[in-house]
Amino acid sequence: MIAPRTVLAPNASPLTLDGTRTYLVGRETVAVIDPGPDLPVHLEAIATAVQAAGSVAIMLTHQHPDHAAGAPALARRLAAPGRTVHGPAVPAGGELVRTDEGELCAIPTPGHTPDHCAIHWPAGSAIFCGDLMMGGLDTALVAAPDGNLAAYLDSLERLADLAPAVVYPAHGPHFTDPAGAFRRYREHRVQRLHVVQHALESGSRSGRDSSAALYGPNVEPELQPWLEAATMAYLEYLTANRPAEPGGWHHD
Ligand SMILES: [Zn+2]
Repeated sequence: MIAPRTVLAPNASPLTLDGTRTYLVGRETVAVIDPGPDLPVHLEAIATAVQAAGSVAIMLTHQHPDHAAGAPALARRLAAPGRTVHGPAVPAGGELVRTDEGELCAIPTPGHTPDHCAIHWPAGSAIFCGDLMMGGLDTALVAAPDGNLAAYLDSLERLADLAPAVVYPAHGPHFTDPAGAFRRYREHRVQRLHVVQHALESGSRSGRDSSAALYGPNVEPELQPWLEAATMAYLEYLTANRPAEPGGWHHD
């Protein structure tokens, strides 16, 4: 099975794991998926990898800076006589980008952010899932105000329906058993929703109380604001009177 080339950015952190993975599909007609942070050493590595390309499309899964901040500088750096550069842009839903390793199709997948887009690569039986899933983990960040848990669960289902053989996340290693991963991701959210609902029923008054119920009292200070924002996404979901057990997926 054909695989993308990967360029790992040196921006490791608790939120980005070992860094942002920039994926390259194609050799002469290339798509660059998520150029990553604006770090010269990383942009240089991408530019070197695509130097033989006559056409480069720069695609973003969403506008978070660890995916998109380097995109304008990369576009400028790649501009050369005889080469066309498209983007950078988050593609519109259904948009097709051609490469010499097959077509890429944009799938709208809101939830992590409203603008989030996954990219389907049928020739590789693959999906580039951006931040919808984190490699090696069973969860990803869905945090208020940008995150929306109901939309997130719908987006996971949309990707599961495509039945890819492999899923490439923007952080962490790729998933070789996507069906199992989709199931674990959904189960994780259902379990968390039950915890928050239980905390509410036992009189939790604040997001901080519910956050402690979910994540325990001793979280890394750097993560605390994100975890409270993630808790708010659960509270928003439940206060909209959605069930803690979302309707089962028909392919379960
Ligand atoms: Zn993100």
